Amino acid sequence: MARMELKDVVKRYGMVEVLRDINLDIADGEFIVLVGPSGCGKSTLLRMIAGLEPITEGDFMIDGARMNDVRPRDRDIAMVFQSYALYPHMDVARNMGFSMEIRRDPVDEKKRRVTQAAATLGLTALMDRLPKALSGGQRQRVAMGRAIIRDPRAFLFDEPLSNLDAALRVEMRLEIARLHQRLGATMIYVTHDQVEALTLADRIVVLNGGDIQQVGSPLDLYERPANKFVAQFIGSPTMNVVPVTGGVEGVTLANGQWLALSMRENTPFATELGIRPEHLDVVDPAPHVLTATADVVEHLGSDTNIYVNVDKVGPMMVRKHGNIPIAAGDTLGLRVDTDHVHLFSEGGMALPTPVGRAA
Ligand code: ADP
Ligand code: MG
Repeated sequence: MARMELKDVVKRYGMVEVLRDINLDIADGEFIVLVGPSGCGKSTLLRMIAGLEPITEGDFMIDGARMNDVRPRDRDIAMVFQSYALYPHMDVARNMGFSMEIRRDPVDEKKRRVTQAAATLGLTALMDRLPKALSGGQRQRVAMGRAIIRDPRAFLFDEPLSNLDAALRVEMRLEIARLHQRLGATMIYVTHDQVEALTLADRIVVLNGGDIQQVGSPLDLYERPANKFVAQFIGSPTMNVVPVTGGVEGVTLANGQWLALSMRENTPFATELGIRPEHLDVVDPAPHVLTATADVVEHLGSDTNIYVNVDKVGPMMVRKHGNIPIAAGDTLGLRVDTDHVHLFSEGGMALPTPVGRAA
């Protein structure tokens, strides 16, 4: 069991406030993913939870017990880092069981747990290999095995896959998802990989500059971002955001074009409009659609990415499923899917989601 609560947690290094007013309630068995730009405090937060870094202010509780002053090894939490230092002269089995060896746990019990962890992670055939004879993915699996052996009540992962190549990342991502299903342990996972965040998380926590911007399920954040930062951070390719003049029943784009929208009553006027790349439709140029010029076209096979310039509005990005026969320099029409647009106020806060209206 590991329900975790962070209450008004603050972290300062000297005068510098690195994390502010962190309030987060993590359910037992939940998979939480922390995302945010480099330097926003993700590792620091994990290290405070692990006990490797003192908490300046606030409380950190596990299952109702305050942990602030509890030593790391007494918190019963395992941490897996990006750089996994295995002992080079020990084989896989001994690397995995070493923490039990130094604790002088019973040999039989150690053997049982190592065998079980190896089976879970597909390492059974590699037990007597040395780290130098393993691939990057296999080494990372041994590092995870070391964490599982301890049968901790929670796992913390700090960008564990970022040193692996693309194919291995996918394989290990599935491995971690299975591990979570099998162990049911609370997991907190830091990544800057969109796909890892969206696919692994029960809930994603978006951090920026030491503040939590939003906490929610992957689809929540994707469909109902709380502000422009979350809107542009979640989703790849990123959301297009263009300036508009807000009105009661729609917005006017910088080129003078009117977009009819149904806004909730008393919604403040929007200053910016957000449109995801997949919510722009490529159509023949016409008076009532946006006119754009293709700048760069990327044919990915399954999808086509079209970077366009919209006259008097600015650059936008369009993503279409399939192979769209468009080349750089082509003029095209773009229709905005007004059921899926986002509006932002002056300070970048999201306004209540509008829905499309027939013009
Ligand atoms: P992230 O993991 O999100 O990239 P970190 O948690 O590593 O960010 O760092 C958050 C901020 O805290 C950064 O601005 C970093 O420079 C600062 N920081 C981290 N560790 C220390 C330290 N020991 N002393 C002073 N500042 C630190
Ligand atoms: Mg970090």
